[in-house]
Amino acid sequence: MDKLIITAAVCGSVPTREQNPNVPYTPEEIAEEALRCWRAGASVAHIHVRDPRTGAPDFKRAYFAEVVERVRGASDMLINLTTSGFNIRAENVDEARLMPVDLGPDLCSLDVGSLNFRGRVFVNPPGWVDAATERMRQRGVKPELETFDLGHIRQAKDLIERDLLDAPPYFQLCLGIPWGAPGDLETLVAMTSRLPRGCQWSTLGVGARQIPVTTHAMLEGGHVRVGFEDNLYLSRGVLAKSNAQFVERTVEIARQVQREVATCAVARSILGIPGSR
Ligand code: MG
Repeated sequence: MDKLIITAAVCGSVPTREQNPNVPYTPEEIAEEALRCWRAGASVAHIHVRDPRTGAPDFKRAYFAEVVERVRGASDMLINLTTSGFNIRAENVDEARLMPVDLGPDLCSLDVGSLNFRGRVFVNPPGWVDAATERMRQRGVKPELETFDLGHIRQAKDLIERDLLDAPPYFQLCLGIPWGAPGDLETLVAMTSRLPRGCQWSTLGVGARQIPVTTHAMLEGGHVRVGFEDNLYLSRGVLAKSNAQFVERTVEIARQVQREVATCAVARSILGIPGSR
């Protein structure tokens, strides 16, 4: 079994300090949280950025660039920038949301397929998915195929059949987000059973579903994502003080189930990502 890649999703675009005062907002705070997670055993940082004053979701190039520079300056952590672009106001949103690809990250999230996402519609038309895939390949950025339902896996497999992705394809199975696939083990098994041969996969579970789905993934050879983007509570009623606490717990569970944790260098090798830029 491959060693375990732990991704830390340190702030996302939804959680606020009203919900948990430890959610990072400024680029410096976001980078510091990523680095705490790296020291705890995470090899990948999944990055969204915020307005540093208000914490509102933001998408400014300078904020992404500062986080990349700070994390790269202090670690060998792999950087995964979001392209979800949920909150962009631009003339050409399709193009604007691909800006992070040009900042030279190791990975970018690539949302394959559309869905109702809480109270909104998360729109990822097939033409945009193809264009984003092509851009990432041109720039040497590995797509992390975010799939929220079985149909999204079908669409990702279509990208593979059309030879648009480099091996190994890397899936993030996103469970428990209203109104995507539920965060239960039956659903996780249904999704993993439809993955293409030779791929790598990770999973995340929202809120209380984080421990069951990530633990199952550790047993089944998958990788895991944890952090404030998905979960603000360490246990019932107890807010996490840092993303690193989720990483520490994941490392401890991995130790208990005898799954070795990947270093950043090993994570690169598993995902087929060349060495530090
Ligand atoms: Mg994200």
